[in-house]
Amino acid sequence: MRSLSRSVPAPAHLGVDVLGVPAGSPVELDLRLESVVEGVLVSGTVTATMSGECVRCLDPVTAPLVVDLQELYAFPGARPGSEPDEDDDTEPLPEMNGDLIDLEPALRDAVVLALPLRPLCRDDCPGLCSECGARLEDEPGHVHDAVDPRWAALGGLAAEPEHDRST
Ligand SMILES: [Zn+2]
Ligand SMILES: [Zn+2]
Repeated sequence: MRSLSRSVPAPAHLGVDVLGVPAGSPVELDLRLESVVEGVLVSGTVTATMSGECVRCLDPVTAPLVVDLQELYAFPGARPGSEPDEDDDTEPLPEMNGDLIDLEPALRDAVVLALPLRPLCRDDCPGLCSECGARLEDEPGHVHDAVDPRWAALGGLAAEPEHDRST
């Protein structure tokens, strides 16, 4: 068993369009390489910084991203999926390239799965005004000619169904 700790620059397009790890930013790998019957089991954590946009206010969001990674790599030419069995449609394992393991596909998958679907700059981000797009955080109490709440209450009364007076 070997451990591997190093920092590598992030490959391009690590993530999805609106959110991801910027290309070239440091990605910390803290991995264990374990020899198993089928090949080498790589497991550990990957730490990086993701950046994107808040879905509510469109502010830039950066947050640490910690991803668990686990992937089994077959020794070259020793992949169990290559048995001459025509009914065998199991996915072939990714292959080790000499002593080098290409972690990028596994890293890509793990990062995409770990990204939040709706990134927020903070949990209670007030977002933008739905009328004019103003940032509500900058303008507390921002309102448009909304109906005075007292009149709104009266409006609610008027809208009550009339009482049945037939009795
Ligand atoms: Zn926000
Ligand atoms: Zn507004």
